[in-house]
Amino acid sequence: MPRPSRERWQRSFSEWFDWALMRAEIYDYGRYPVKGMGIWMPYGFQIRKRVFDIVRELLDSTGHEEVLFPLLIPEWMLAKEAEHVKGFENEVYWVTHGGLEPLDQKLALRPTSETPITYYESMWIQSYKQLPRKFYQVVSTFRYETKATRPLIRLREITSFKEAHTVHESFEDAERQVSEAIDLYRKIFERLGIPYLISRRPDWDKFAGALYTIAFDTIMPDGKILQIGTVHNLGQNFTKAFKFRIQGRDEYFDYPWQTSYGISDRVVAAVISMHGDDLGLVLPPEIAPVQAVIIPIPAKDPSVDPKIIDYAKDALRSLQESLFRVKLDDRPDVTPGEKYYYWDSRGVPVRVEIGRRELDSGTVTLVRRDTLERKTVRLQELPEEVRNLMSQIYDSLYRRSWEYLRQRVSRHASVEEASKALAERGGMVELPWCGKEECANKMAEALQAKVIGTPWPTEPAREGDRCPVCGSSAVTYLRLAKQY
Ligand SMILES: [Zn+2]
Repeated sequence: MPRPSRERWQRSFSEWFDWALMRAEIYDYGRYPVKGMGIWMPYGFQIRKRVFDIVRELLDSTGHEEVLFPLLIPEWMLAKEAEHVKGFENEVYWVTHGGLEPLDQKLALRPTSETPITYYESMWIQSYKQLPRKFYQVVSTFRYETKATRPLIRLREITSFKEAHTVHESFEDAERQVSEAIDLYRKIFERLGIPYLISRRPDWDKFAGALYTIAFDTIMPDGKILQIGTVHNLGQNFTKAFKFRIQGRDEYFDYPWQTSYGISDRVVAAVISMHGDDLGLVLPPEIAPVQAVIIPIPAKDPSVDPKIIDYAKDALRSLQESLFRVKLDDRPDVTPGEKYYYWDSRGVPVRVEIGRRELDSGTVTLVRRDTLERKTVRLQELPEEVRNLMSQIYDSLYRRSWEYLRQRVSRHASVEEASKALAERGGMVELPWCGKEECANKMAEALQAKVIGTPWPTEPAREGDRCPVCGSSAVTYLRLAKQY
């Protein structure tokens, strides 16, 4: 059995992505009469829910508390932290009227929630004894994007923004929180089989109001980089702006320290993109709304068909009892071929085929979605075999996606070499760097790429490595890529 092709998936990824979202009924985009906004359809909603179940599970188990803040933020509140409001000034949607009445003050549709959350923390928290405190919410945020919008990748309504906000008594504890957040994000992406690179964003591209920003990026099938998560050490910038002070261990009052970190719909975009092929989605079993689909194959002699259906129902029961999410597709007017196409495009990990041959021999035929390999097993062994197959599918998706990423990251001594590598296979290149913004910009310009940042954890340059622009000794390596 040949492996399913990934030709179209990679060659014309952009069209593939739009096609796959519609074909599998994930997200209806482009028809809603407001730019940058789409509709999660039932099947897509189930995938999204399972992805964010993982996110919630990991946050809840590490002491994060889920909250829900209002969508509207008054202008004075958003403007409290000067750099923050400046960073978002081109992207905020404003509500200016209630009915026909102009409002006394403009209200922003939240682009992110550092300001209202800090405002409330300043009322809720008085002492170091109440710290650390970790909040999060999963909400819609709005950004008036001027770049071309893309379904799930660049939206004006981000429908699944998980934003976490934490408060700490010291800089050291905030630093520990940054590490915990990075660790959490690693676990989330590992469970979804999404490969990633962790970079520190350059100072001129950090989150507005942060001391620094750490970002997770993945490489999409077209070789472009997609940012899939960020972690910010906010220092005392917001607590100072809101005059939020706490009593410390030494009895004195001081401003506490904060971090914030977010992921969004892009995680769903990445999981769909990373594992797909020309037939459509290939889902990691943990987030598949349907993990196995049973398809009865009609016999030449129609009088046998009711027996085949009964036998398929036995298979259904045995999988349900083992707590798989399973579906029997016994639609009478649809051919098995059409059913294969339908469920394959939805990325169902395992197909169970049951026909006359299986009925007579007490077996079932299993087909795994990622390789389309077939295997016939005894009915009694069905749950165990499906469990094994799902774990093999996850392992193989994980390996394949990491291999894809690793093949597209390379380090070079000269801009020419880096340029060649980027042209050949996209992805990310690394060049020795002296640390000057000017040299970074020159490299970006020569490569027609964006500065992604420097490796995290920080990697000092090797003895003798020189900045290819100015020739001075490199301090670290600069990552560059074409980015979404
Ligand atoms: Zn330089």
